[in-house]
Amino acid sequence: MKILITGGAGFIGSYLSEAFLERSQEVYVIDDLSTGRLENIKHLLKNPCFHFVNDTILNREVMLELTGICDVVVHLAAAVGVKLVIDEPLKSIHTNIAGTEIVLELANKFRKKTFLASTSEVYGRNSKVPLCEDDERIYGSTAVARWSYAATKAMDEFLALAYYRNKQLPVIVARFFNTVGPRQTGRYGMVVPRFVGQALRNEPLTIYGTGNQTRTFTYVGDVVQGIISLIDEPRAVGEIFNIGGDEEISINDLANRVKCLSGSSSPIEHIPYERAYQDGFEDMERRVPDIGKLKKWVGYVNTHDLDSMLIKIIEHERTR
Ligand code: UDP
Repeated sequence: MKILITGGAGFIGSYLSEAFLERSQEVYVIDDLSTGRLENIKHLLKNPCFHFVNDTILNREVMLELTGICDVVVHLAAAVGVKLVIDEPLKSIHTNIAGTEIVLELANKFRKKTFLASTSEVYGRNSKVPLCEDDERIYGSTAVARWSYAATKAMDEFLALAYYRNKQLPVIVARFFNTVGPRQTGRYGMVVPRFVGQALRNEPLTIYGTGNQTRTFTYVGDVVQGIISLIDEPRAVGEIFNIGGDEEISINDLANRVKCLSGSSSPIEHIPYERAYQDGFEDMERRVPDIGKLKKWVGYVNTHDLDSMLIKIIEHERTR
């Protein structure tokens, strides 16, 4: 089987490529290396079953050829990270809307099963615990750049599900919650690689806001297994699934955990949101997924607790 992974040189995409190659499948990656990195996939480039195309999903001609070749499309290419979305809203909106339109239109043309990576951001500031797939989306004003990401990814979901309903295109939608692991960069705002980098450099750990906001973190290898098992499960077609962790932690506690596990003497600094991002920034107070559906349908399990994820990430950064 041949798999097309858009955004396959990104953090999650590179692990997914490895996993498909281990299953003796042929992998085609298209990535414009805007946030993806060659470094993530350089160990795969010599593998004859791995093919890398350095281009954007907005290039319809290239996408036409790749979609025709492959049996399954995994659409991961999207703007990543709160910081990037706020700094470059136009590019983010264009990639998420126009890019996904091309991916789905071509998948439909060739009738290829498509996995759409969505995000917990689509729930917006709904801080219900835990969040179920059919829970409400609560967004702030369009003047707040952050919500453009949630709105565009929600539109991607609507579009994918419309292709399923009107054209019977086999699509699967999964909402990733905060995913972590070695290779993730802190450049686009992600808290764990930022804290680990700061701790190892003995710089202050920068907590935005009060630090009482909470998140759950999932190990990237588990997310990859979740993706593969959903693609393998025929009943998953036309459905939405949360993929996420089950250990809720405040950002204050996370900072202390990173400090302790890395043996760092970094101080901890609280920074107001308006200084970290921009005026009027709105954060989510809590973000905990209900992963009951994923567990029930494909037997999903989280194999790593937070400490073991952090230890792996710290070790990886130390040896880099
Ligand atoms: N955060 C922080 N310091 C940082 C980066 C992020 O305190 O250097 C906070 C951020 O405000 C949010 C949480 O950590 O409350 C998770 O942020 P991230 O960008 O990783 O993911 P998301 O906001 O999408 O959950």
